[in-house]
This record gives sequence, structure tokens and C-alpha cells, in this order.
Amino acid sequence: MPEIQLGKFVKFSAEITYQLQQQRKIMNMGNSIPFINLDRQHAEIHSEISAAIDRVISKNAYILGDEVSALEEGFAAMLGDCEVIGCTNGTIGLELALRAAGVRAGSEVITSSHSFIATAEAIVNVGAVPVFVDVEPGRYTIDVNAIEQAITDKTQAIVPVHIYGTTADMTQIMEIAGKHGLLVIEDAAQAHLASCDGAMAGTIGDAASFSFFPGKNLGAMGDAGAVVTRTKSIAERARLLRNHGRTDKYLHKVLGYNYRMDGLQGAILAAKLPHLPTWTERRRQVAARYDEALAAEGFKLIEVPEGMKSAYHLYVVQVSNREHVMASLAEKGIASGVHYPVPQHQQPALEGLYGVSELSLPVTEKLCPRIISLPICGAITDAEVDQVIQAFVEVAQR
Ligand SMILES: *Cc1c(COP(=O)(O)O)cnc(C)c1O
Repeated sequence: MPEIQLGKFVKFSAEITYQLQQQRKIMNMGNSIPFINLDRQHAEIHSEISAAIDRVISKNAYILGDEVSALEEGFAAMLGDCEVIGCTNGTIGLELALRAAGVRAGSEVITSSHSFIATAEAIVNVGAVPVFVDVEPGRYTIDVNAIEQAITDKTQAIVPVHIYGTTADMTQIMEIAGKHGLLVIEDAAQAHLASCDGAMAGTIGDAASFSFFPGKNLGAMGDAGAVVTRTKSIAERARLLRNHGRTDKYLHKVLGYNYRMDGLQGAILAAKLPHLPTWTERRRQVAARYDEALAAEGFKLIEVPEGMKSAYHLYVVQVSNREHVMASLAEKGIASGVHYPVPQHQQPALEGLYGVSELSLPVTEKLCPRIISLPICGAITDAEVDQVIQAFVEVAQR
């Protein structure tokens, strides 16, 4: 007999309905073309998700367990030649990756300012100092030349952010890191199945973090994330730290954290995982459709160089009249977003800290007021993309 029989008390259908409603609110905002169409994605695979949730309930395996292991193994097989350690979310994943790789308090970590605040939070939360540098103007990933200039004798790691789903110049970054003996921790939160010179995002550096936030390319029904690494010792350390430094139920080798992934999230993600390659391919088709139409109109698009395959988490284009474009799209029921309007070095939370006030990052500062993200996901139709293009081109100014 199991220790506690929770299964029969769980009101499964009410719970999942609530979850789906919450996500609808976050993602769709009542638009006829939502930013990400989770309704459509979930309708297609509802029975697979329900079966996964039922399995967890029948086993009462709510924290880590088989389902999380299955996700870890499945994602590792998809990325190839790595280990996956499921955890609470992508922010924690980045922190866990930094800790497991041995980034020490007081050391400097070079990263691009143009990212979600989680990148800085993870670095600061391990006690390290974020050193923000500029991005290159093609796809807004970390400027490799700026990395070399920012290296000091305190630098211990580089955190390239694969912003919008396109990787940073990983081949060059690994060269620089090798030359200076630095760790490379990839923020791959937006880059599921992206690649650089044939290597999968997340498997190139010493370790990486992926986010499974509901709106990411592979999304849970709640918070979830993962550390990815090719290095056995880093994988072992990450597993240890994520679960109270535990080597046995009540035996703790080190003081760790409770950074575990829920069984339900693991099961839901494992159910969605086999669809990820198809959804990613669809994102690439959608991006190509946008590219073709918007390049013809002379807009500044994300430039993905030969040898790189983007996961197109976001489709971003520059305009000079963003507020007007967003309002006009919204009037037509088309959602849009800004990722991100304020770079990390200009965030109030970091004001006066780490020398950010003296920083001048011209490329980042110039693009932030101009970028707009258009709807993209695995479930958007060509007709919808064309509708967005038409509405956008009508009002957007270069
Ligand atoms: C989403 C995201 C994160 C954080 O992931 P969570 O799962 O939301 O904690 C970190 N970095 C980037 C670039 C992200 O887009």
C-alpha cells in the first residue's frame, strides 16, 4: 500500500480546465490572432496530455520520478550527446548550471544586456558580478569582440544568450573561452532545437539552461526548466544541488536547494516533446514567410547566418513607430509584443550596481525602442501570417 493515497482526492478535470483557462488569459488576451496559439496546440494533443496527467496521478509521483526521468532522457536523445537535469524553471536552471559548473561568488560573468532579467538574476544569485556587453547588430546575440575587451583577471564565465532562438557565435565564443580558460554557460531558454555549425544549442558550452515556461517553444503547464551538459561531473553536481545535496533519503553530502521539477510538468513535457521537431520546423516556415514579405518592404529583420538554424522563439522586426503599430494590430485583433523594451543594464533593479550606470551599449540601446515581436508558433496558419503581414505593412514605418 502506498504511504498516502492522494490520487483519489485530485479533481483532475477541474484542475486542467483551470490551467488551460489561465494560459488562455496569458497567451491569447482575447485576440483573434494570439501571440502563441496554445489553444490550438493543446486541442491537437489533448488526449496525450490527459493520459500523461492520469499516469502521474495513478502513481502519485508528483516530484521528479519516472516521468521527469523520461523527459530528461527524451530531451537528451533529441539534443544528442548530453545529460538533461530537470528543474524548477529556466531561471533556476541558469543558476544551477552556474553553480554546478563552479562559478564562484565574486567572479565576473560576461553576458549581453539585451535579454530577459532572469539572465542577470541567475548570475547575481550565485554571488557573481554580471558584466554587460553589447550585442551584434545582425541577430542581437552577444558581440564576440566585446567579450574579449571585457575580460579581466576576475572573469570566470561567459553567458551567451541565444535570444529569439538564434544562437550566439558559439564557435568563436568557445575559442575565446578556451584561450582564456573561461566557462561557457548558454542561456538557451529560447533556443530549443536551434543549432550552430551543426551543434545543438545547449550542448556546445560547459552547461546550458532551457526554460519550459508555457510560452516557450516547449512549454509546460506551469513553471519548469532544465540544465543540459556534456560534462559528467557538472551533471552529477547539478543533480545533487537540485535535490538538497541528497545522496540518500536523509543523507546530504552538501547543502543544496529544492530546485526539483514537478512530476506533472515532466509528464506533460514528455508528451509534448515528440511534437517539438514538427513545431520547430513550422516556426521556421513561418519565419521564412514573414522574412520574404518584410524584406521586400525593406524592414530590418533578424539575420541568421549560414550554418545556423534558428528555433524562432520570437519573430522580431524593427520599426520607428512601434506604439502605433502595436495599437493598430491590436485593433485588428492581432497580438504583438516587445522583447525587451528595457535592457538589463538600464533596469531600476540594477541601477547603481555593477557599474551599469556608466555603461554605454549603443547597439542595444538603439534597438530596444524599435523592436516588435509578431505572432509566431507551431500552430499559426499561412492565412493568419498573411493577415499579420498585411496589417503590419499597412502601418509600420522603417
Ligand atoms: C524565459 C527566459 C528565462 C527564464 O526562464 P523561466 O523558465 O521563465 O524562469 C531566462 N532567460 C531567457 C532569455 C528567457 O527567455
